Amino acid sequence: MTIRLYNTLTRNKEEFVPITPGKVGIYLCGPTVYAKAHIGHMVGPVIFDTVKRYLVYSGYQVTWVVNITDVDDKLIKKGKERGLSMAEVACENTADYLANLAGLGVDQIDHMPKATENIDEIIQFIQGLMDRDFAYAVDGDVFFDVGKDPGYGKLSNRSADSQQGEGGEAAAKKRSSGDFALWKAAKADEPSWDSPWGLGRPGWHIECSAMSRRLLGETFDIHGGGLDLIFPHHENEIAQSECCHGKPMVKYWLHNGLLRAVAAGKLGGRSQREAEQATAHEATPGEATADTKMSRSKGAGGLADQIERFGGETLRFFLLRTHYRSTVEYSEQGLEETKTGLEGFARFFERFQRITGQSFYELTPIARRADGELAGDDDPLLAEVAQRRADFAAKMDDDFNTGGAISELFELVRALNKFADQQQLEDSAARSPAALASFQRGVVTLRELTAVLGLFRTAPTSKTGGEGELVNQLMGLVVELRADARKRKDFATADRIRQVLGELGIALEDRKDGTIWRLP
Ligand SMILES: [Zn+2]
Repeated sequence: MTIRLYNTLTRNKEEFVPITPGKVGIYLCGPTVYAKAHIGHMVGPVIFDTVKRYLVYSGYQVTWVVNITDVDDKLIKKGKERGLSMAEVACENTADYLANLAGLGVDQIDHMPKATENIDEIIQFIQGLMDRDFAYAVDGDVFFDVGKDPGYGKLSNRSADSQQGEGGEAAAKKRSSGDFALWKAAKADEPSWDSPWGLGRPGWHIECSAMSRRLLGETFDIHGGGLDLIFPHHENEIAQSECCHGKPMVKYWLHNGLLRAVAAGKLGGRSQREAEQATAHEATPGEATADTKMSRSKGAGGLADQIERFGGETLRFFLLRTHYRSTVEYSEQGLEETKTGLEGFARFFERFQRITGQSFYELTPIARRADGELAGDDDPLLAEVAQRRADFAAKMDDDFNTGGAISELFELVRALNKFADQQQLEDSAARSPAALASFQRGVVTLRELTAVLGLFRTAPTSKTGGEGELVNQLMGLVVELRADARKRKDFATADRIRQVLGELGIALEDRKDGTIWRLP
């Protein structure tokens, strides 16, 4: 088993060998929380959630950090517009971001440090750069002296001159236009912290250097982010960390493609190249993996709305079908197609339940790759399942080709369905116990592989849209009332609820993590 990944730093696909055997540290640049999240913000989190799952499955112990930028010009501006404090704006949008992560099944993050909670660490880091003469202070501002860093530009192949940096007053204080701010002197009415250089606040780039060092060390394995962050943000992170520590910051730099909204039927209006250039220009610094066009495009709406309309599972599946380094072409049509694809899985899970009496969602996924090997080459079904499993792993090992891995899942379901037809598994009188056992073992592998991608983790309970949403909410209420009755040992009421629902054809199923229901 060898995992290979494309390293932006070397522009090569390399064998993955962690710095410390068996352990992996991952840092992903998170959001600047000045506005609500949109689907473009979820590309990185969904990809790296899957990367972590796959590395854990492959036997590594993984620590994954995603920062929250909660102090920034954009937050201050937004607060002023809305008559709120910066902290209130940050708090509101962080809650929205977290809810959306949960909606898309992103639950593998170990640490989410906030910039405002790491000010001491940031000041200490800047002081380290001052002590080594890589930074200079002018009237309360502190800048990184890019001219002192001979390695500057190695990630992006760009020079410091192409960095626009701060204009106005700050620009006049800099030794060179490519220098960038590490610490910004406080202006009136702005949130600020005390520092050796006076009241002020940290620049954006230094946050990531300081927080990654605190949680992952001076050198760590994987740093991720959208490709719009390569320059200047990641180039500056490298400059800060490597000049401060005198050693490499990151072994593998992974960059995901951005998301681009494609209006249905209007694909011919703009050439691919024009559109890509627009994407690159419109990407806003500080907004990880976001194409800002997205937030303005008609129909894109709030992410919470999309999760409600299409389901978080559909969105996750949709994002994973594109290779992480490619541009995600977002369209409602694409989401509809994804939803249809997912229905094939749902029908198969229902069939599995009819045949075995077991819920697919209740099967405990095999957590480690080494534990999922299939025995019995003489069983044609299991031989095929083993082949699909090997192909799935080969695709994931090859720079996390999730789209290719998903194709193997479709093939696996096709094989299992075909086998169920041939062996008449739905006819309990006609089927053989051996065939049933093979089928069940095959489905265990399907459970294993879908769990690696973070898919089908819980049974769907919802029908989305209009009336379906009303039914959802009413059923939520009924289930809650029944749970309350049971809690106070009013079993007569609880049983009565179950009985009446049963008469209506609605099935309830009590599980460890709550009660689920199914409509007739
Ligand atoms: Zn960052």
